[in-house]
This record gives sequence, C-alpha cells and structure tokens, in this order.
Amino acid sequence: MIVAAGGSGGGPAFEGASSPPGGPHAEAEALRRAGTSARGATAYVTLEPCAHHGRTAPCVDALLAAGVTRVVVALVDPDPRVSGAGIDRLREEGVEVSVGTCEEEARDLLAPYLTHRLTGRPFVVLKLAASLDGRIAAPDGSSAWITGEEARADAHRLRAESDSVLVGAGTVRCDDPRLTVRDAPGRSPRRVVLGAIPPGARVEPATSMCGDLGAVLDELGAQDVVQLLVEGGARVAHDFHAAGLVDKYVLYLAPALFGGDDALSMFAGPGAATIRHLWRGRLVSVRALGADLRVELAPVRADASASERTAHRPPDDGTAASDARAKGRS
Ligand code: ZN
Repeated sequence: MIVAAGGSGGGPAFEGASSPPGGPHAEAEALRRAGTSARGATAYVTLEPCAHHGRTAPCVDALLAAGVTRVVVALVDPDPRVSGAGIDRLREEGVEVSVGTCEEEARDLLAPYLTHRLTGRPFVVLKLAASLDGRIAAPDGSSAWITGEEARADAHRLRAESDSVLVGAGTVRCDDPRLTVRDAPGRSPRRVVLGAIPPGARVEPATSMCGDLGAVLDELGAQDVVQLLVEGGARVAHDFHAAGLVDKYVLYLAPALFGGDDALSMFAGPGAATIRHLWRGRLVSVRALGADLRVELAPVRADASASERTAHRPPDDGTAASDARAKGRS
C-alpha cells in the first residue's frame, strides 16, 4: 500500500507491504511510516482493507484513525469475511473510495493470495528445467546442470517467494537436494517431501506427507502455505499436472538436445492419449535468461469469474468454499 500525502500527487509517499499471515498488513506498515502525514492523505491499496478482527486489528480502523480521507482500491477482497465490508465501512465514515484501478495487474500480483482465499489451497507453481527437447536426465540418470547459472538463480528467487517447496521422495534419494535459497536473497521455504525421507537426507528439516495430492494441498493450505513450489521429479510433476493442480508452470529450457527418446521426460507417466487431449496453456512470458529460455505458462481455466462469484456468497455452511474449489480447479 502507498499513502500519498497532500492529495493527488505532490506530497511525499509512504509504502508498506504485507508480511506473512499473522504479521502486520501493508496498511499498518505504510501508516506507521507516514505518521502524521497520513492526515488528509490518499491511500492506494491493491486489496480492499480488512474490516474484521483476524490475527491483526482491522486496517479500516487504522486508516480512519490516521485521518486518511481517500482510498483507491484495485481489487475487492474475495475473502467472505471482508468482501465489500471494508469499503462499506470507509464510505460510511465519509472516506471517498474508488474501486477497480489497475484491477488486472492486482489480480496477477495477488494470484497466490486469491487462490488461497478462494480454494483454501496454495497457489501451485511447477518448476521444470529441461533440454529444448523436453528431457531432464540422461538414460544413466545423470542430470546435473542442464541449465545455467542465471536459470538457477531465478529458480532460487522462485523458492524464496514461495512459502513451501515440495519434491518426491525419489528425487531426495537420487539427487539429495537441500532445496534452500542460496543463489538469491530471501529466506528458505518450508520443505515438504512426498513419501518417506531417507535418513541423513540434506533436505532435512522437512515434512513428510503422503496420500492424495488434493488432500496434501488442503492440509498445506490450512497451514497458511499460500504459494507452493513443486520441484520434481518427473513423477510428481506428472501427477500434479495430470490432476490439473498446477496454477503456473515455470520452464527453464537449455539450448541443448538429448536427441533421443531414451532420456527421461519432464513428465513420467501416461500423457495425452490422443491429440484431442493435448493440454494447451497460455504463454504468460518468454524471456532469455543467460544462455537459456525462461517460459511461463498458465493453464486456461474457463470459469475463473464464476468461482469468484461463488466465493462472494455468505459463508453459510461451508459449502461456498468447496463449490469455489470445484469450479476453480475444473
Ligand atoms: Zn488488513
């Protein structure tokens, strides 16, 4: 959030960003920095300020107490506890509120939060590094450094911005990864292994989970994992993809070819059996990263707006969330 003193433009601006769940919201941080400059100022927020007592005090109260007179909101909060209530309260107290500025940009920026709020599950990012012919390891299993340094650093940034990173137990046995953030600033995410963690694995401390992937996501979501980075291996990548559970694909592609069908594919398991079942995504971005390519793909989900309408229903008997999940994940 940004607090701009002295009306529209001219005055100093004070910024704040939200901390992880339970920590101070962006509003509190920006208002703290603005101090008395907030009186009569305009606040620019991506998400509607909250009006309920959660783990932090309501931001609406903080904005009113600070004397902000105008609030520009990009996006109404889909959280049924907020959903319009924050905006209504501000207006009742005589604050001028406008909604919808930069809404699309805010929706992209807040996609993990919105997914978590609407479905109760983390936003799932699947990361893959492969040769240009889509292979991740040679037939003898060797796979180190297909992509270069820049791609690795970018993947570490992806880790740092995720709350949790997940791999299969097979990957832990074969590659013994640490899954920590080393080549980028930021903290290391919580590590999750699907299956049993072999003794002495470098991934420790980590959580071992098993069972249905949907149930795993429900559990992680309930534990405030807002963004989950899935890092492999090929079986785990296949299972998340095949179940339609991936919200964003990040592919690092090296200008290299294994040149045969005996090298290991990105996805291990049955794929599209017929061309009619070919999965088609939407290219979000393609850019060169050192010698490699970074490709970002999003699944095409027809009914995203319907799931949001569903989530705006009052939280009567808990069915709103499950309906939203069914639609959002279809
Ligand atoms: Zn808040």
